[in-house]
This record gives sequence, C-alpha cells and structure tokens, in this order.
Amino acid sequence: MINFESFNLDPRLLTGVVREGYTTPTPIQAAAIPLALSGADLIGIAQTGTGKTAAFVLPMLQKLLGSQTSGTRALIITPTRELAEQIHETIKALGAGTKLKSATIYGGVSPLPQIRALRAGVEILVACPGRLLDHIRQKHAKLRGVEILVLDEADRMLDMGFLPPVQDILKEVSSNRQTLLFSATFAPEIARLADQTMKNPQRIEVGLSRPAHTVSHALFPVPAHLKSSLLMTLLSRTTTESVLIFTRTKHRAERLAPQVEQAGHKVTTLHSNKSQSQRQSAIKGFKDGRYQVMVATDVAARGIDVTSISHVINYDIPNSADAYIHRVGRTGRAEKTGDAFTLVAPEDMGMVRTIERMMGHPIPRQILSSFDYTTSATPSQAAELRQQESERNRSSRPSRSHTSAPSRSRFKPAGDARPAGHARPAGHATLRGQRTPPRSLPSQGTLSSQGTLPSERPFPSQGKSPSSRQHAPLDVRSQADGNRHKPHTSSHTDKDGNR
Ligand code: AMP
Repeated sequence: MINFESFNLDPRLLTGVVREGYTTPTPIQAAAIPLALSGADLIGIAQTGTGKTAAFVLPMLQKLLGSQTSGTRALIITPTRELAEQIHETIKALGAGTKLKSATIYGGVSPLPQIRALRAGVEILVACPGRLLDHIRQKHAKLRGVEILVLDEADRMLDMGFLPPVQDILKEVSSNRQTLLFSATFAPEIARLADQTMKNPQRIEVGLSRPAHTVSHALFPVPAHLKSSLLMTLLSRTTTESVLIFTRTKHRAERLAPQVEQAGHKVTTLHSNKSQSQRQSAIKGFKDGRYQVMVATDVAARGIDVTSISHVINYDIPNSADAYIHRVGRTGRAEKTGDAFTLVAPEDMGMVRTIERMMGHPIPRQILSSFDYTTSATPSQAAELRQQESERNRSSRPSRSHTSAPSRSRFKPAGDARPAGHARPAGHATLRGQRTPPRSLPSQGTLSSQGTLPSERPFPSQGKSPSSRQHAPLDVRSQADGNRHKPHTSSHTDKDGNR
C-alpha cells in the first residue's frame, strides 16, 4: 500500500503530514503526488473534500525546498477568499518545519499588508485573480520567477468569470514552469484552458464529479410557501451536529436566519455582503460550535472545511448540478458521514432531474407524515412568494450571477446537466476523523419515503394531504445508508466520453 514515506518527501514535510494526522494518502494524493514530484504538468479531476489541497501543496513545498532562489516561486490561483485562506492554512501546517513563507492575496481587505508581504518577499502566493492582477499592474507582484503554478477549482473560476484575469496573470508568469490544474469537472472550457497553459499534461481523475460516497441524499417535496415551516420541522426533529443551509440569494439568507434563530438555534450567515472579517468570524464561530446553523449563499459552497457539518440543507435548490456537488461536499468530509437534504418546490423539478442524471440514480423523496402540507399561504407568505418569483426572474437573466461573482460572470443555465461519472475507484484512503455514529434523523415513524421519480408521484400540495396516503413509516437514515455505499456507476457520458 502507498504511504507518505514512499514519496521520498523531505523529512520536514513528513513531520507536517504526521502532525496533521494524515496516515494514508487519499486516492488523489496517491495519484497526483508522484506525478507532480516528477515535474510533469498535471490535470487533477477531483472533487472537494478528497484531500486535493495536500495533493498539490506537498509536491509544491518539496520542489521549493529543492533549491534556494528568492522572490515568488509558487503561485496558487483560487476562486474564493475562503479557499485561499484554507490553502494558506494547509501550507502553514504541512510546511511548518520549513522556512518557506506564504501569503494570501484577495480583495475585500486592505491591500497594504499584502503589499508589505510582497515587498518582504514570500515564496508562495495564494491568490484570487482580481486582486492579484491589481498588484501585478501596480508592480507590487512579480511573477517571472514562478516555478510552479496551481490553478485550483478551475471550473469554479471559469463559472465566476475569472478566465480573462487568469489569462492576463498567466502572461506574467514564466512559461518555464510546472502547472497543476485541479477541477471538480472537466468541461470543454477547462480542456481549452489546459491546452493553452500546460505542456503535455498528465490527467488523473479520482472521486469523479459526484458527491462523496459518504453523503446520503434526500429530497423533501414541499409547496414553496411551506419551505420555512418544513425546514423548522426538519431542524426540530433531526439530530444534527452543525447544519449548513443554502439559500439562493443573500437577502433570502438574511430573511431566513432570524426565523431559524426564533426556532431556538444559534445561527450565523455567510454571503457576499459581509466583510472579510465578518465572514471569517462567522466561519470561526461555526467551526467552534458557537453557531449550530449557518445560512449561506453559494459563496460558502466552496472552501468551507468544517468537518462537523452533519447536514447540508438546500433550502433553495442550487442552479446547476455542479453547484449541488459543491454544496453537498461541505458535509461527509474526511470520511465522516453526512446528509444532504434538498427542499423541492414544484418549479424545481427540472433541476432535480439534472441532479439525478449527474448522480446516476434517483434521490429518495421524503414526506414528513405529520407535517401539514395542505396549509394555504398566509398574506405574508404570498408576498414572500411574489418576491421570490421576482428574485428568481432577476437572477436568471444571463448578465447577472447567482453568486458573488463579478459582473463578468457567466450564468450557468439551469439545464446544464453534468455528465455522470465512472465508478469510484476501489480503495479509498482513510481520512482523518472517524465515521460518526448514525445521527438520529427525524424520529422514526415521522417520515415516509417516496423512492420514485417525480413524474410517478404526485407532489405534496394543497388539498392533498400526504398523510392520507399509505406511506410506510421509515427511518430515513437506514434508507439513506442503503444509498450511501452504492457504487456510483452510470452509462452517462458526454460527447467526448468524459465522466
Ligand atoms: P481538501 O479536499 O483538500 O479540502 O481536504 C479535505 C479534508 O481532508 C481536510 O480537512 C484535510 O485536512 C483532510 N485530509 C487531507 N488529506 C488527508 C489524509 N491523507 N489523511 C487524512 N485527512 C486528510
């Protein structure tokens, strides 16, 4: 079996690995580290939570330790500030025994400390594209000496409209470099970017574009005006550690959070209207357990690494299958188990089908048998629905983005089905953290399951009480567990035969 010693890493790095509690390389690490150490350009198709950060950080540190030149020698470009901070933390942790220095570069904070760090000379920059380009233009950042370049979450950068700044940055980086590109998916745009920026890249695919096998999924069909009540009922009946709830917009996050608080949960919010220090304090409070619930927009779908997240709840369905992968990737991390619940209003069914195509199988439907799906909308709920409708219309205009993306963002159409993946390779590495004992979900007998496709089952709707149907009481956890370990196999491929 491959172990970290077999990579012949510098002993200082092995000490970092041990200190971090990594005993066995994850599949992406086992595949990527030897290739990257050989100096090859590399495309790693790996989803979040697979250990991909260490898969590029370790060979990068090893390369930097191999020679002694000054100035910026490694550059990691990543789409969000949260990811930049996390990568920086991983570099500090794994490289603690070395003298290598790293700095983060991103917008929304004062540029001065960044300028000071750039002047002082740091070997490693972990940067978001916009601010890095500012520093380049103002001659603070000099990238000619970069020996290794990492493009992390390349698909997300493209989604966020960062291709032009990334291309501008690449012009500043020495062409005599090693390039590693990581992406959860391998869309044609990624292939084009790789063609433009890499030399004979080796491509490895691990834990393909599917949610981690440690996550169980359930859909909760519900009329749109009852989403909040259903959410509160779910929260009250479900035993959870930390719960990350996703809404479509920051305004919806801010409207939902007080309701969750009123229901007795300690709650924080995370979205692009928050300053960087507010975001960091929200994430820290969520990590520490000060807040049990975080209500967030897709800004949190990448880059939040909180291993105690037991449940991701999509209060609003995401607007692409990719976004679903990234949201649910916040739970089931480091081989812990997690649950992904998605509240599904009738108008979300098209996206449900897209997500199910990507998963390769239907997601079980759950009905809370004692929840009253027949209640009509109150005047305030009706007003809320009208507001949602207008928000939805606004956010589906092609020139606007659903996330905090810059105005250049390319809107991803709802029907963007991701091709399904291959079977997960055998033998997953053991990650830090043990499997949690099964959490008790909405107490036994309170839920009913609909393991069928939407077209085959009526939607729970006004005037039709699901409790009037003959649903067998079900413990969702055991139903979901049956789903959890099914190998992800599918015959879906795209026209290039990828995933
Ligand atoms: P990432 O996919 O890089 O965000 O990593 C997900 C989580 O797995 C992080 O908490 C890492 O610290 C952890 N991790 C990465 N590699 C290993 C490993 N070989 N063994 C145990 N935990 C790991």
